[in-house]
Amino acid sequence: MKPVALVTGSSRGIGKATIIEFAKKGYDVVINYLSSEEEALKLKKMIEETYQVQVLAIQADVSKEEEVKNMVEEVIHTFGHIDCLVNNAGIAIDTTFEDKTVENFRRTLDVNLIGTFLVSKYVGKYMLEKKEGTIINISSTNGIDTIYPESLDYDASKAGIISLTKNLALQYAPYIRVNSIAPGWVLTEMNQELDPEFVESEQQKCLLKRFAEPEEIAQVAVFLASRDASYINGEVIRVDGGVNNG
Ligand code: NAD
Repeated sequence: MKPVALVTGSSRGIGKATIIEFAKKGYDVVINYLSSEEEALKLKKMIEETYQVQVLAIQADVSKEEEVKNMVEEVIHTFGHIDCLVNNAGIAIDTTFEDKTVENFRRTLDVNLIGTFLVSKYVGKYMLEKKEGTIINISSTNGIDTIYPESLDYDASKAGIISLTKNLALQYAPYIRVNSIAPGWVLTEMNQELDPEFVESEQQKCLLKRFAEPEEIAQVAVFLASRDASYINGEVIRVDGGVNNG
């Protein structure tokens, strides 16, 4: 029986790279998408043709409880178990401080933080029945110490994910390991509209002088899910290429 990994928001970016890394390691995988059905089905086909694993693609908005419940039930109905959950789905609505609205702040918290809670809650129930599983929450260095008022709502949601990770690790102990990854800048569509001068100045702050490839985050997620990480729990792993604090 193959292990099963569910990655939220996985039709593109870090989520897509994570699905591919899990498939490479022989996991059956569940692609969750919000609206990009075509991209999700293309990814499903590519994985089925390349790796000998089973793939499920499910539409669900992680911020909507009923949709999350149905998605998790469909995974259990198909595979009978979920061994690893990566809460990756996320949004950033960057604006000037003056343009920040309650609606955008709430939506950011709903998707990034409440979504992580909801999927963990429904998946955690089945992991507890099996008395094993791993959950990996994608936070950000923005949730720790890289501060950008343009994304203060996003930063708050990512700080919340770190707190949630520690509480879930305690709640689910000793059966489910729950960890978080805090990436720095990653080359994905989320960052495609950044001003090139800003990108250059951010790259200069990084010791490796470049943004991460999505695979460099995905590989850490797959490591945290593996037995090689069997004693890592309630932790935040920073993956930012190193920063100059001197
Ligand atoms: P992305 O925008 O390419 O991917 C995000 C995915 O989440 C998209 O597929 C999107 O459709 C999906 N999504 C959004 N709202 C959803 C919802 N309500 N329900 C289900 N899916 C939803 O961005 P990415 O860079 O791949 O980001 C992935 C994760 O990594 C996010 O949580 C992001 O905050 C985090 N992160 C990204 C960076 C970066 O520099 N790119 C840095 C640190 C953390």
